[in-house]
Amino acid sequence: MDKVSSFINKNVGDIYLKEPLSKHSSWRIGGPVDVLVEPYTVEQILETLQYADLMKIPTVVIGNGTNLLFSDEGFRGIIIKMGKNFSKYTIKGKRACAEAGIWTPKFAKILSDNGLSGLEHAIGIPGTLGGLVFMNGGSGGKCIGDIVKKIWVIDKNYNLISFSKSECDFSYRKSVFQDSNYIICKIELECETREEENIKFEMRNILDNRKNKFPLNYPNCGSVFLSNPVVNDTFAPPGKLIEEAGLKGYQVGGAQISEKHANFIVNLGNATAKDVISIVQYVRKIVYQRYGLYLESEIKYVGEMGDLKSLHEVGIIE
Ligand SMILES: Cc1cc2nc3c(=O)[nH]c(=O)nc-3n(C[C@H](O)[C@H](O)[C@H](O)COP(=O)(O)OP(=O)(O)OC[C@H]3O[C@@H](n4cnc5c(N)ncnc54)[C@H](O)[C@@H]3O)c2cc1C
Repeated sequence: MDKVSSFINKNVGDIYLKEPLSKHSSWRIGGPVDVLVEPYTVEQILETLQYADLMKIPTVVIGNGTNLLFSDEGFRGIIIKMGKNFSKYTIKGKRACAEAGIWTPKFAKILSDNGLSGLEHAIGIPGTLGGLVFMNGGSGGKCIGDIVKKIWVIDKNYNLISFSKSECDFSYRKSVFQDSNYIICKIELECETREEENIKFEMRNILDNRKNKFPLNYPNCGSVFLSNPVVNDTFAPPGKLIEEAGLKGYQVGGAQISEKHANFIVNLGNATAKDVISIVQYVRKIVYQRYGLYLESEIKYVGEMGDLKSLHEVGIIE
């Protein structure tokens, strides 16, 4: 990619060329990206966006890659990774503000150290706060949107604008940011005060519970399918439907439906994106035949040209 040579001398953060995306996905899957940049400031993000626009290079923003499947071919463009370089925070009373790249469990712990409650449910969610807001992630019936006060994003005209909670349009695993190209930069949360000991007790229970339930010994991307199916007017967890369909342990190449939790697909060592996509398509077909509903995935797929879609929308690649 010739266009890159003038980019690498710019002051846009830490730059990596031909970086394997498998290093940036918790599934440990993905070919090389032409350029990966880890910015420190909003100005550096703007500079990257303006350069990419000028040179007509596609960009994709990621956090910790715990809800993403990258193509086996990688990505012919620039990944802007919002991570540890972009993770400053401040706390004033019940208001906590953090940059998007902060590690969610770390921030949950910082809040607990300050006797602030609201993020206990996210102590075991291994991504960035920006990724959590984008996905409106959470656990135990709670989600990050519950305590959001304000979000600052870069819009498509390179302006830093803010969204109030109601403008974020949060619903189950949905936010307004999934329908836009905005880059989430800063998040303000409105917490409650609570005894530090009680917060920590709850967090320890959540972590113990997750350790018992989830197949954390193999690379994975958390729950693959959204927990919203209804069968005979009753909520039917996708893991249960997949298990009842006899698909636990179903394997394609190096990818397998976890023996421990049927809503997880694990990488046994050499899984490809194609293997995972094949499993997702097969599960959808079998569950549809049995229950008459198509499961949808909360995981996002990044194609070779930077197209971002939900994993269930990706066809089998021959
Ligand atoms: C073991 C395990 C357990 C998990 N448990 C849970 C759980 O209990 N609940 C839950 O909700 N999720 C869970 N997840 C999924 C995942 O951790 C969360 O969705 C997480 O919040 C994603 O954050 P991330 O930084 O990894 O985002 P990424 O995976 O990097 O990105 C996810 C999406 O957000 C976009 N994005 C990321 N950062 C930004 C930004 N700053 N601006 C704009 N767009 C951005 C990306 O383009 C992508 O579309 C789990 C994952 C694993 C591996």
